[in-house]
Amino acid sequence: MAKKILYINGDGVGPELMAHARSIVDKLIDVEWVEGEAGYETYKKRNTPLPGDTIASARACDAVLFCAVSTPPGIPDYKSAIISLRNELGLYANLRPFRSLPNVPPPAWACPAASPQSSSFLDFSIVRENSEGLYSGIEESDGERATALRVITRKACERIVKFAFDYAQLRPFDRVTLVHKANVMRKTDGLFLEAGRAVSKAYAPAIACEDALVDSVAMRLVKSPQDFQVIVTTNLFGDILSDEASALIGGLGVAPSANIGQKHALFEPVHGSAPDIAGKGIANPTGMLRSAAMMLAHLGHPKEAARLESAIIRAYEQNVKTRDVGGLSGTQEMVEAIRKNLS
Ligand code: ATP
Repeated sequence: MAKKILYINGDGVGPELMAHARSIVDKLIDVEWVEGEAGYETYKKRNTPLPGDTIASARACDAVLFCAVSTPPGIPDYKSAIISLRNELGLYANLRPFRSLPNVPPPAWACPAASPQSSSFLDFSIVRENSEGLYSGIEESDGERATALRVITRKACERIVKFAFDYAQLRPFDRVTLVHKANVMRKTDGLFLEAGRAVSKAYAPAIACEDALVDSVAMRLVKSPQDFQVIVTTNLFGDILSDEASALIGGLGVAPSANIGQKHALFEPVHGSAPDIAGKGIANPTGMLRSAAMMLAHLGHPKEAARLESAIIRAYEQNVKTRDVGGLSGTQEMVEAIRKNLS
């Protein structure tokens, strides 16, 4: 039976990258596509960045494929469509795998021994708690003093750390790093650490649990990223570390992500709507297509997911890649190479 997938183009490079992703997914599995609107363009038309019918369709579909939305500054009470959608669907876990690509070497100082042809020098993932922390949106300001509430609950900590260990077991990886700042934020990160260590006991000794301060992890990601297998952390830390990590594998254009909840799942590239390159035909399709591959695996099509990931890797081996990763190809040419590699 065809899988029902809600696709949300969003803003900027969204429509062009989504069209390519849909055409590639159509080559691999049977899909009934449903269109949903969200983002700044939607806000301009419908006075809301996330209409109720998009939320209802997302609940009714097997998965959501999302590209990117712009969040314009200066509109009071404007809520990011993607943050609202994650909340509406209960997508508590944000999973971001970082795998090197052939002919996109990491910076020399990060991996001095790396061979530029290999796609295997880096392979680690960041699991970020998506539902609370400093992104709870509970803020106040009287014009002189502004505060934000950092909400951390035991339930959410246990849930996200369990997700990270289950993922490690599946890949398989044998180490999970709990990233925190419990020496300063004793109550909030203290709770994250305590809950995380308790959860880790069920996976010992097969999967080791270490913990590390977020500032030291930011440095180690630059100096020795091979140290890591699975990083699990709270919302803001995960957001920052994952943009940093994307620089190690070629930048924002190549990194995919999954947002997973109990009932629903949404897949989106790590990059934003890239308004500066929209419509120019030069956006890198890799992050979008790798997100589609993650979606295929989640929907029970691991073989098709692996075929797509291999076709992408082959395009990099053939040196068919966009300018952001040092290539000469446009989006269309790169997608065509990937399409050929599928057959
Ligand atoms: P937003 O407001 O949606 O977050 P932004 O421009 O602030 O947009 P990104 O969209 O993530 O943030 O873009 C950051 C930089 O990375 C931009 O220079 C953009 O052109 C570049 N970039 C993002 N995605 C891609 C891509 N797929 N291919 C090539 N370059 C990209």
